[in-house]
Amino acid sequence: MIHYTLRCSQGHHFDDWFASSSDYDAKAEAGELKCPECGDAKIGKAIMAPSVGSASTAAEPACACCAQEGSCPWAA
Ligand SMILES: [Zn+2]
Repeated sequence: MIHYTLRCSQGHHFDDWFASSSDYDAKAEAGELKCPECGDAKIGKAIMAPSVGSASTAAEPACACCAQEGSCPWAA
């Protein structure tokens, strides 16, 4: 099982468990992931702020799913 901290487009954070990273991808694509606070289905993996203050990492993508799949639900 994999534990992810997820974030909706409204900025709410919540946690969920998945059998694997592909299980997460399948549920995300199917729209089965919803924010428990506002019901938003635009869910992405939250960035676990690695280290603050290093401007040299400015080239990082906006969210973790962009880095992994190129199928970010937020990349309109
Ligand atoms: Zn929300």
